[in-house]
Amino acid sequence: MERTSTTLTSPSTSARMAQPIPARMRALLKATPAAGAELTEVAVPEVGPRDVLIKIRAASICGTDLHIYAWDAWASGRVKPPLVFGHEFAGDVVAVGPEVTRVPLGAYVAAESHIACNHCHECGHGLQHICRRVRIIGVDRPGAFAQYIAIPEQNAWITSRRFPPEIATIQEPMGNAVHTTLSAPIAGSVVAVFGAGPIGLFAVPISRAAGAAKIITVEPSAFRLQLAGTMGSDILINPLQDNVVHRILEETEGEGVDVVLEMSGNPQAIAQGLQALRFGGHVSLLGIPTRPVEVDLADGVIFKGATVQGISGRRIFETWYQTRGFLDSGMDLSPIITNQLPLEEFATAFDLVRSGNSGKVVLLPNLECDEISG
Ligand code: NAD
Ligand code: ZN
Repeated sequence: MERTSTTLTSPSTSARMAQPIPARMRALLKATPAAGAELTEVAVPEVGPRDVLIKIRAASICGTDLHIYAWDAWASGRVKPPLVFGHEFAGDVVAVGPEVTRVPLGAYVAAESHIACNHCHECGHGLQHICRRVRIIGVDRPGAFAQYIAIPEQNAWITSRRFPPEIATIQEPMGNAVHTTLSAPIAGSVVAVFGAGPIGLFAVPISRAAGAAKIITVEPSAFRLQLAGTMGSDILINPLQDNVVHRILEETEGEGVDVVLEMSGNPQAIAQGLQALRFGGHVSLLGIPTRPVEVDLADGVIFKGATVQGISGRRIFETWYQTRGFLDSGMDLSPIITNQLPLEEFATAFDLVRSGNSGKVVLLPNLECDEISG
């Protein structure tokens, strides 16, 4: 296997370092505007005055990464190769810029992937999670499928070492589930989760902890549906086998569910969610449809007096405190992490994500070094 160069560099002339930093690193690069990615060597990122340099222990794969890997219409319109991608990660702070004041050298951190501008209208209203000038790590700037990443100090989230790297990294997508779930009135409610990808799977124990009376999960992948059961979902519905709306009405004495958490982005699921919602119910929409979707607003929303809420990202940092609280309370998300692989096995990892026969898939960019250093 190709070894990382050990030539030392100063990541910036004035950065403080906890350990020698190599000049170059292994990274997964979207090298050209085409499908796939290349495992190669690139320079370790420069550390700006307000940046922290993180040696990455775990980097989990998100659906967005699959879009970039497959190079679909969204990716080709947004991403400018060459780019190291990946935006869910955790690791150790090994260098800090001279103006860094909050995050100490040696801190164990995860990261908020959305870098808010702090100056726009939304940021001025304390709504950094919908900053209109947001820059996303691993989409608009170099990302985390690499041995090191430099990010602004403001995006580093200090994490307890009680949580292993594969749990620390999933705080970011778990935060999407926390934000979506806690935006709805969950206590005492019947909740339907549409889509049991990793985020929908996180939403099951979060709904339970928030006091849901009954949790119904709708998911076409048999593997994921079973995982939703493992995570505590009471009713499992496969839309390929069952009439979703009938089954939900049966489970709710014909009333419909109090809350729909839409975590698939699938147009059929969105339609079924609105049909299976009770009058006066609440819908939180997190899943991102790949094209404009037609919905029956009159019967699905207006005459029902329904509340529909769009969810983008995580509230910064309110959602992160809530996420930490759920983990501190002992919530066990380890069954959702189905695969951990070295960075070299990225192709297998992306195949697993694409197959649907996986929960969260995690890459370990410094596995070899970690093993060598014990
Ligand atoms: P994912 O693609 O792994 O999960 C989506 C799941 O929906 C899959 O398991 C799929 O089998 C299932 N599905 C497909 N058709 C369905 C149907 N008809 N009924 C029910 N389920 C169906 O994605 P994820 O990482 O878990 O993310 C969930 C969604 O949230 C995705 O659409 C993603 O793009 C979106 N997302 C939104 C934000 C945001 O800020 N709004 C952030 C992250 C992810
Ligand atoms: Zn802004």
